[in-house]
Amino acid sequence: MKNNQHKDIKNTYYWSNYHSHSQFCDGKGSMEEFVDSAISQGLKKYGFSSHAPLPFNPSWTMKVDKFADYVIEFERLKLKYIDEIELFLGLEVDYIHNCSDVQNDFFKDKKFDYLIGSIHFMDKMSNGHYWGIDDEISVFDFGLKDLFEGDIKSAVHRFFEISALMINKGGFDLVGHLDKIAINAGFYKEFNTNMNWYQTLVAEALQLIKDRNMLLEINTRSLSKLGVPFPNQQFYSLINELQIPIVVNSDCHEITNVRDGFEVTFKALKKAGIKTMHQLINSKWQAVEFDEKGLIA
Ligand SMILES: [Zn+2]
Ligand SMILES: [Zn+2]
Repeated sequence: MKNNQHKDIKNTYYWSNYHSHSQFCDGKGSMEEFVDSAISQGLKKYGFSSHAPLPFNPSWTMKVDKFADYVIEFERLKLKYIDEIELFLGLEVDYIHNCSDVQNDFFKDKKFDYLIGSIHFMDKMSNGHYWGIDDEISVFDFGLKDLFEGDIKSAVHRFFEISALMINKGGFDLVGHLDKIAINAGFYKEFNTNMNWYQTLVAEALQLIKDRNMLLEINTRSLSKLGVPFPNQQFYSLINELQIPIVVNSDCHEITNVRDGFEVTFKALKKAGIKTMHQLINSKWQAVEFDEKGLIA
């Protein structure tokens, strides 16, 4: 058995990640390549969360007929690496208002260790496609004009309205990348994350997550490229005040990124006063202490 935990005088540390992609959706690498990378980077818990199939077929979701192979490969890897890392089966499930969510028939007869609820699409545009909130800016801009007459404030309000519908409907464990729309919204001069109206929207969403007893994902995917996690680090103090249980995830699409941005994020969370994050232990989400070196074993 390899030992990837490192020790200091008092503590033994490890990392974890529950938001990851692979060749079963839009990730660049096989599930096994991601597991190898996770082991070599000191992760002790790792969850697969391919983009769940949708009623229509974007290029980046898993196709329904691939799901059986996804589970078979997961089971194989779980056993093969049992002495080195604990693996979990999940999915990242889109909530699309009046179209698709975790109550879809697809999920009825299936068991997962956990599910992530995320929004990538908002309303249907006049061309019949759903508006993608993290599409490239030209596509985003088309939808903004088509659906909101170019008014970014209305669009962001609508995004949080849909987020509230998703959270209220529930059926999943973790709220994924809560404020991802802020990236594209940031291209418009009428928007920045310091605006009072925006801070109110995020605060209301956080309160709702608290009220509904959900876990909040701290998503580090854009940290190295854009310098911001989701939710933005300016909300960490509020997350602490509300005592919302958090899980830090890298949302990796490449094998090198399994714990990208974790050191700086763990440090910032600690500085904001947050003392624990949650981990799947014996099939239950439980609080675990951490510092900037990782989770404390
Ligand atoms: Zn996502
Ligand atoms: Zn993802």
